[in-house]
Amino acid sequence: MLRTGLALAASLTLAGCGMLGADDAQDGITQAQLVSAGENNADWITHGRTYSEQRFSPLDEISTETVSGLGLAWFADMDTARGQEATPLVIDGRLYVTTAWSKVKAYDAATGEPMWDYDPQVPGETAVKACCDTVNRGLAAWGDRLFLGTLDGRLVALDRDTGEVEWETVTVDQSQSYTVTGAPRIIDGKIIIGNGGAEFGVRGYIAAYDVDNGEELWRFYTVPGGDEGEDAPEYLRKAASTWSGDVLGGEDSIGGGGTVWDSMAYDPELDLLYIGVGNGSPWNRAYRSPGADGTGEGDNLYLSSIVAIRPDTGEYVWHYQTTPGETWDYTATQHIILADMDIDGAQREVLMQAPKNGFFYVIDRATGEFISAKPYVSVNWASEIGDDGRPVENAEARIDKTGKPALVTPGALGGHNWHPMAYHPGENLVYIPAFEAAMVYAPEENWKPDRARGFNVGFNLGAGDLPPDLGIRREVYGTVKGRLTAWDPVKQEARWTVEFPGPWNGGLLATGGGLVFQGNSSSEFSAYNAANGDKLWSFPAQTGIVAPPITYTVDGEQYVAVLAGWGGAYAITADGELVNAQGPVRNISRLLVFKLGADGALPDIPELARLPLDPPPSRASEETIALGGEKYARYCAVCHAPGAVGSTLLPDLRRSGTLGNRRSWLAVVNDGILKDNGMVGFSDSMNEEEIDAIRAYVIHRANEDKAIEQPEQIVRR
Ligand code: CA
Repeated sequence: MLRTGLALAASLTLAGCGMLGADDAQDGITQAQLVSAGENNADWITHGRTYSEQRFSPLDEISTETVSGLGLAWFADMDTARGQEATPLVIDGRLYVTTAWSKVKAYDAATGEPMWDYDPQVPGETAVKACCDTVNRGLAAWGDRLFLGTLDGRLVALDRDTGEVEWETVTVDQSQSYTVTGAPRIIDGKIIIGNGGAEFGVRGYIAAYDVDNGEELWRFYTVPGGDEGEDAPEYLRKAASTWSGDVLGGEDSIGGGGTVWDSMAYDPELDLLYIGVGNGSPWNRAYRSPGADGTGEGDNLYLSSIVAIRPDTGEYVWHYQTTPGETWDYTATQHIILADMDIDGAQREVLMQAPKNGFFYVIDRATGEFISAKPYVSVNWASEIGDDGRPVENAEARIDKTGKPALVTPGALGGHNWHPMAYHPGENLVYIPAFEAAMVYAPEENWKPDRARGFNVGFNLGAGDLPPDLGIRREVYGTVKGRLTAWDPVKQEARWTVEFPGPWNGGLLATGGGLVFQGNSSSEFSAYNAANGDKLWSFPAQTGIVAPPITYTVDGEQYVAVLAGWGGAYAITADGELVNAQGPVRNISRLLVFKLGADGALPDIPELARLPLDPPPSRASEETIALGGEKYARYCAVCHAPGAVGSTLLPDLRRSGTLGNRRSWLAVVNDGILKDNGMVGFSDSMNEEEIDAIRAYVIHRANEDKAIEQPEQIVRR
C-alpha cells in the first residue's frame, strides 16, 4: 500500500507541473519499481528478482526453524513434456510462467486457479534449430504487459490481465538457425533480448526494442561481420583484427557465433548493461583463425566475453574475455551476479560469473578490471588465470592447434551451464549448481560447414561414444558428478558442497530465512541451510528439476514455487538409463507451489512406458555403418544422443518401428513427414544413401545394446 501511495503521490506532483514522465503516469511495472525491486518482497517482477540478478529474497517466514512444516499448497500440470527452465514472475498476487515451446500460463498465485494461457504456435520444425531442447527461461514485465521471446525468434507483448497479444515482432532472420530461449530484460522502456544458434552457424547479437510497438532501437553485434570498414563501430573494427579465417565473410561464412542466449544484469547507478557472450561458430578455432599463435592473435573477440554496454544506445563500454580463442564451447553466457563486497580492505563493486570454462571470476563492474579467478570444478585446459586475467593454458588441451583428440575438463556442458546461481549477501556466498563432466574433443579434418542443417562445430561428436560394455559405460557415467557448491567470492574457495548422484541439477534461490532451495536430477526439491549446507527439508517431485525456484507472498503469507520437468542439453544427450546413478529421470512437467502448513499431494506417478529393444539383424557392410555413424554424429546426436543411446526425453531410435523398413525411414528422415513434431527432413544435407546408412548404423548400435542388456541371448546363439 505504501509503495502504491508514494508512486501515486509522485505521479500527481509531476502531472501538476506539466512534466508527466512516461514512468510516472504508467500503470503496472515502472522503471522506478524495477530499480527498487529488491525492496518489494511480495512480488518477483524481473527474471533474477532484481537488476543485480542475485536471486536472493529477504523473506524469512519460511526459515531454518520452520521449513520442516513446508508442504504442497497447489500444483498445475503443464501441456508440454520437454525441458522446463523458466523462472516465474509474480505481480500483485498472480503468477506468470513460460513453458517448453514458449507457451505462457497465468495463475492465481495463492490458489493456483488458472487465469489465462497463451500459445505462440511455434512451428514444430523449429526444434531442429535448437541445440538444447525447446526450452524457454521466462518473461519480462513493463506496465500492464508481459514480454516473451519465442523459440522461432519472435518478441511478443501480451496483456497481463488477459494474455491477449498486443503486438509481436520478428527479432531474427528466420531462414537461419537462430532460436530465442532466454528471458528478456527491460530497462527504461527498452526490451533487451538476444538469441542462440552458435552451434549451427549464426552471428550473435543483442538488440533493444520499444515496449510500445516492438520497433528495434539498436543492435549490438558481438562478433565482426567480415566487412568492417571505416563506418563500422570501433569496437567491431578492433574485434575484426582478432579473427583471421574466412568464417566471417564470403562463401564459407557461418556467422562466427558469440550468441547472447541467456545472462544479463544491469547496474542503474553506473548505467551499464552486462551481457554474457557465447562460443565460437564453429567451435574448432582452427577454422576461425588458422595458425593463431595465442598471444592476442586469434582471440576472436568478443567470444566467451562479458561485455558492458549502454542500455540506451547499445554503445560498447568495456569487455573481459574469459576464454581467449575459445575452442571448447566455453560460453560466458552463464548467470552474471552483481554485488558489493570488501576485498583486500577495499569496498568493491563486482560482477561474478562461473562460466563453462570452470573458473569463478570476480570482475570490477565499473571498469572491467580483472580481480580474481579460481577453479570451482576440476579444470585441465588451463592451470590458472594469470594476474593479467589471461589463462595459462595446457598445450595438449589446445586441440585446434594440436589437431589431436584430447579428454578435456570441463567439457562442452561446462562446469556450470545455464542454471541460475544465487547470492546470499549475509553469508557473502554464491551458490553454484556445478558439475564435473569431461569430454573427448576430436578435431575434424577438412571440415566444411553445412548452412542448411546440423551441428557446425568442426569436431567429430561421435569420438566420445562409449563401447557396448555396461561396466565401462557405468564407470564413465560415474565420473560425471553433480554438486551444489557454496562459493566464497573473496577467498575464492568453497565453504561447503553437497554431492548428487547425477549432474544437471536445478537453479537456485537464497532467502532471508537462511535457506537455499534447489530441485535436482534425482527428482527431489530440497531446502539447505545457507550457512553450512545441511539438508533441512525435501519433497519427492517425481521428475527431474532444472528450473530455479522463486519465493513471494500473497496477503503476507510466503510461498515457494518451482517449475518441475526434466530436460535441456544434458537430458537429451545422455544415456537415459545412466543419466543419474539412481536410474532414468522422468519428465513430468508441473508447477509446484509450497507454503507452511500445507499438505497437498501429487497424483500417483504414471508408469514409465518402454518399448522393447528388438531391432532387425544388422546386415549392412562395415563401410555403410561407418558412413551412417559419421552422419549420425553430425546431424542426429544433438537430439537423439551421441551413439544413439536414447534419452528419456526424445524418441530412442534403437527402438524405432521404422528401423526395419527403408521406405518408412526415408519418409521420416528424408521427406520430413514428422516435421510438425520437430523432426524435419534432411534431404538438403544428405542423399538417400547417406540417410539410409544412418538406419544401418542405428540397427548396428541397437543390436550391440540388445546384446549387453540381454546377455543370455548371446549364450544361446
Ligand atoms: Ca554452445
